[in-house]
Amino acid sequence: MIIIKTPKEIEILREGGRRLATVLHKVKEKVAPGVSTKDLDTYAQNLIKEMGDTPAFLNYRPAGAEIPFPAALCVSVNDEVVHGIPRKDRILKEGDIVSIDLGLKHNGLFTDMAMTVPVGVVSDGSKALLEITEQALQVGIDVAQGGKTGNTVGDIGYAVESFIRSKGGGKYGIVEVLSGHGVGRYVHEDPYIPNFGKRGKGEKLIPGMVIALEPMINNGTKNVTLDADGYTFRTADGKRSAHFEHTILITEGEPEILTKV
Ligand code: MG
Repeated sequence: MIIIKTPKEIEILREGGRRLATVLHKVKEKVAPGVSTKDLDTYAQNLIKEMGDTPAFLNYRPAGAEIPFPAALCVSVNDEVVHGIPRKDRILKEGDIVSIDLGLKHNGLFTDMAMTVPVGVVSDGSKALLEITEQALQVGIDVAQGGKTGNTVGDIGYAVESFIRSKGGGKYGIVEVLSGHGVGRYVHEDPYIPNFGKRGKGEKLIPGMVIALEPMINNGTKNVTLDADGYTFRTADGKRSAHFEHTILITEGEPEILTKV
């Protein structure tokens, strides 16, 4: 069931999104060679607590998971796509790319955001992967318009998919088994928003919907595997993957990005 947010809820989500973006940008500044993925998680948790808010992913148990997620921040390095579990012994090194994905609960409501950050100097190929994935997110946001356009969830997927295809015929794989989602009263709500699709198909975008768009783009095959930890998705061919995410509000016109500073 799609939940349309009330004006009061939207106010709370706007403030929560601003706080989340503030925290995630600070975590991004901490990314450097020699830092552990656990260090990033601890830093994010402390910042969220200082604000009087709650990390949304800590102890969150998604449908089908055997254990709750043991951290606030998902940290996914190189061939890890999403949901990497932070570890003290996982040390970032020059040339890595790292996806940092964070959820925040503010006054009872959830927002969700991610970005992939280079560790020091990275290869041109990795730089290009980060750029096109971030651009793909923006392409999806651009068509996420409610009201008179009549745009749908399928239009978002179609736009993201077409953009990625235009960037290198088969060079990039769009992860299909994971998708964007509604967010707000829960961490994951309807509708689910794949990063591929057909024009005009799927749920219609309605003003007041709050959704998280999150393209996950691989530098090779679209196929992913799940580690024995039950959380970490990684590319099946060992190539790198990038991930960017914003929580946005559907309006009558241009969508509003809620996860911005
Ligand atoms: Mg998400």
